Amino acid sequence: MEKVVNLCKRRGFVFPGSEIYGGLGSSLDYGPLGVELKRNVKEAWWKAVVTRRDDVVGLDAAIVMHPRVWEASGHVEGFTDPLVDCKSCKQRFRADHVAGPKCPACGGELTEARLFNLMFKTYVGPVEDTASVAYLRPETAQGIFVNFRNVVETSRMKIPFGIAQIGKSFRNEITPGNFLFRTREFEQMEIEFFVRPGEDEPWFEHWREERFRWYVDLGIARERLRLRPHGPDELAHYAKACADVEYQFPFGWSELEGVANRTDFDLKRHAEFSGKDLSYFDEERRERYVPYVIEPSAGADRSTLAFLVDAYDEEEVEGEARVVLRLHPRLAPYKAAVFPLLRKEGQPERARKIYDALRRHFPVDYDQAGSIGRRYRRQDEVGTPFGITVDHQTMQDGTATLRDRDAMTQIRIPEDRLAEELRARLSGAPG
Ligand code: ATP
Repeated sequence: MEKVVNLCKRRGFVFPGSEIYGGLGSSLDYGPLGVELKRNVKEAWWKAVVTRRDDVVGLDAAIVMHPRVWEASGHVEGFTDPLVDCKSCKQRFRADHVAGPKCPACGGELTEARLFNLMFKTYVGPVEDTASVAYLRPETAQGIFVNFRNVVETSRMKIPFGIAQIGKSFRNEITPGNFLFRTREFEQMEIEFFVRPGEDEPWFEHWREERFRWYVDLGIARERLRLRPHGPDELAHYAKACADVEYQFPFGWSELEGVANRTDFDLKRHAEFSGKDLSYFDEERRERYVPYVIEPSAGADRSTLAFLVDAYDEEEVEGEARVVLRLHPRLAPYKAAVFPLLRKEGQPERARKIYDALRRHFPVDYDQAGSIGRRYRRQDEVGTPFGITVDHQTMQDGTATLRDRDAMTQIRIPEDRLAEELRARLSGAPG
């Protein structure tokens, strides 16, 4: 874990947030390479669940919603974690994260647990009174439920269908930590899939399988993934069933995503609190019902961390240590890097021309600093799947070498076929 965190800082994937002011708890910023990686994760998710399906549409709802939304959803009343204080060192912990009766930091005595609401409060407008209280959303799901009718009326979607959304959520976590795994501000990727009551169980199965496969298709080792069904004591009061996709992080098996059968709880509550009819008329069956909802709820940051951790590898090549991020090509920040072997004989100009041409199609890096071996290592470390080198022979016959990050094999390809070759190799990979 430490190695991944160091690599992230050193190569500009993730920086500590507000670092020049000493940082702010678990606030983290994505650097130039991290932002590309996370965008690719979100793009891969959107492609899999929206673009490639004909039964899911997208949405982008506001972060600050009407405060009644959070009463209806149950968050004002029940979105709490049990909090304990250490009487000696004053640190606070989530009671369910503390193993014994003593403070995990100093061994001191702990207070009784009390409930702490995780929603961030703010005020809308210039007057800070109770009438203007609002919350930063703790999940994106509610933006979908409150737009259910809008989507039904405007998109001609018929049940079964889903609405997907990617966006920031905020939780005042008592104990954030483990790098990107738990922060107070994070991005969720959520789907609410609406089905006819009675057809919920096969759809729950469908989404469990689909969502598990997504991580495998994007390169995560199957043996470090598992689907863990929730026991009856773990289920939220509104859920009929829930299964977590878990990843074996260096700090243990932990949730990447939850897939829940939320029944008709949310739509019924919003109908009750808003006074609007949120039932659905099924024209084919000539019947009216409140749909059941299957919710696959994933975290963009958590999955980015899993992709990074899973891709990290160290090996020895010809007596030298090599760090390589074996990221799936779809996720890699750069798809290729172009190098002139020498900084003379017109090689840099020729390499620049290739770089400029490829950059119109893919994110590509250019590097002419240091030995060619060092340049390969720099790209291996950030997961660039292909290296293209312009050398003496390129100047004679117009072919460049194409090096594969994982196999480290090299073949010669005519310059004007590089884009085509890269496209074939990138699209040939599953995911
Ligand atoms: P946990 O038990 O770890 O607090 P949760 O079960 O409360 O998580 P959900 O409410 O199911 O989480 O949220 C859905 C997804 O959102 C999680 O699977 C995770 O990927 C992501 N997520 C939730 N909280 C955080 C957080 N504090 N930081 C980063 N990602 C988060």
